[in-house]
Amino acid sequence: MLVIKDLHAKIEDKEILRGINLEIKPGEVHAIMGPNGAGKSTLSSVLTGNEKFEVVDGSVTFNGKDLLDLSPEDRAREGMFLSFQYPIEIPGVSMVNFMRTAVNEHRKYRGEDPISASDFLKLMRDKKKLVDIDSNLTNRSVNEGFSGGEKKKNEIFQMAMLEPKLAILDETDSGLDIDALRVVANGVNKLKSPERSTIVITHYQRLLDYIVPDYVHVLYKGRIVKSAGKELALELEEKGYDWIKKEFED
Ligand code: ADP
Ligand code: MG
Ligand code: MG
Repeated sequence: MLVIKDLHAKIEDKEILRGINLEIKPGEVHAIMGPNGAGKSTLSSVLTGNEKFEVVDGSVTFNGKDLLDLSPEDRAREGMFLSFQYPIEIPGVSMVNFMRTAVNEHRKYRGEDPISASDFLKLMRDKKKLVDIDSNLTNRSVNEGFSGGEKKKNEIFQMAMLEPKLAILDETDSGLDIDALRVVANGVNKLKSPERSTIVITHYQRLLDYIVPDYVHVLYKGRIVKSAGKELALELEEKGYDWIKKEFED
């Protein structure tokens, strides 16, 4: 589904990603961990097409297509979804209209007609139930005045509505209390399917108690320096990142 080969990316004159290799198959959950500043958010930005970053080398294939050739919009329409570390507020745009536009954009890309009003309401109801989101949130403007936990739940709701092939969750756990964390994790787990893959980016092991990854990768100084099963997350929780820093100083 996603094949990243020797990916190098820079911002201004600083090389942040220095040769990333990663392959993700349908249905897999990959966790990317690593100390602050390792390049985790840069990787998700580059994958979703943030133009602040310049790809200087390497390739990324998504669903057999050259991802780096696609606009950010087409990456989303191809089924890539990014949950931001800091979700933005869109005052004056209701969640209902926002989601309806997004769902119809995806349908149009697939050559389908816009969704009918009644089907859309049903879809909203079903997905709200699935991710256990408060029905009031969807009547408000996108993220406006939402608490940190509500913003994250809202993103999981958006993800449920759009049914992405690849969801990238960048520090979805930061600033969440344990209940919100559970709601987010449950949503992700309920959306799990053999066709759908997830990249969970997290600094801490905590979220991985709820979202169990198939693979854990450690990103350090712009490279994946270690990959293993879920036990690696526990090892990192116990030992911290200092041993990684020592082992991969340069
Ligand atoms: P992580 O998500 O692993 O904490 P980031 O990808 O956010 O790390 O950052 C990696 C490195 O890139 C850091 O050294 C950071 O300072 C730098 N960086 C990120 N965004 C920018 C930017 N907009 N301008 C300059 N440097 C940046
Ligand atoms: Mg960070
Ligand atoms: Mg980050």
